[in-house]
Amino acid sequence: MRAGVKSEDSPRLDSPPLSGKRVYRMDGMAKLRAVAPDAAARPSRDQAMDAVRTLLAWAGDDPDREGLLDTPQRVVDAFGEWFRGYAQDPKDELSRTFEEVGGYDDIVMLKSIDVESHCEHHMAPFLGKAYVAYMPTNRVVGISKIARVVEIFAKRLQTQETMTAQICDAISEVLKPAGVAVLIDAEHQCMSTRGVHHKDVTTVTTQFTGVFKTDPELKARFLKLAGYG
Ligand SMILES: [Zn+2]
Repeated sequence: MRAGVKSEDSPRLDSPPLSGKRVYRMDGMAKLRAVAPDAAARPSRDQAMDAVRTLLAWAGDDPDREGLLDTPQRVVDAFGEWFRGYAQDPKDELSRTFEEVGGYDDIVMLKSIDVESHCEHHMAPFLGKAYVAYMPTNRVVGISKIARVVEIFAKRLQTQETMTAQICDAISEVLKPAGVAVLIDAEHQCMSTRGVHHKDVTTVTTQFTGVFKTDPELKARFLKLAGYG
């Protein structure tokens, strides 16, 4: 289900800042909005690699020892993959819809979509699963597109709460279904590997709109299908 990581998908930090692409960011529950990339403010790839060297030295190591020489380059390349979602627009994924559904009028749900994101507070990974459902009105979208929307929002610095709302809002706004339900269950490494060091604790967030919000039976069906009912 997950698309392979292709190098052309990754924003290169030495390329002109997101050339020709719009960046979409959402503030809390707010609508998708385009943010003009600030060309002057974006550091060069070399500057980004220098910053990694600084962090290596600050951690107490020698950035010039052999084993670390290529690390800044690898870290910057990894950032290109982990944060490629800034250069991608979830609306594009959802724009192609199908109206011939043969009278189908029930929940469309994707279960166990991989979530690989980074918390915006520590830049530490949080890993888990997303469950996304919508109640179509007269059109549906290719099911892989829903997983892509999750992936695009995950490949940005996030809070789990914001990401849950963003996925819900994007599907609501573009597909205009009768309702959307999103559940994310993830383990935050900033909590498991540092700070309180709580292992095996996961965070569950949910967001419901439309019929999933107003119909308790439908909400219960979603939770049961997700394995939380
Ligand atoms: Zn964190």
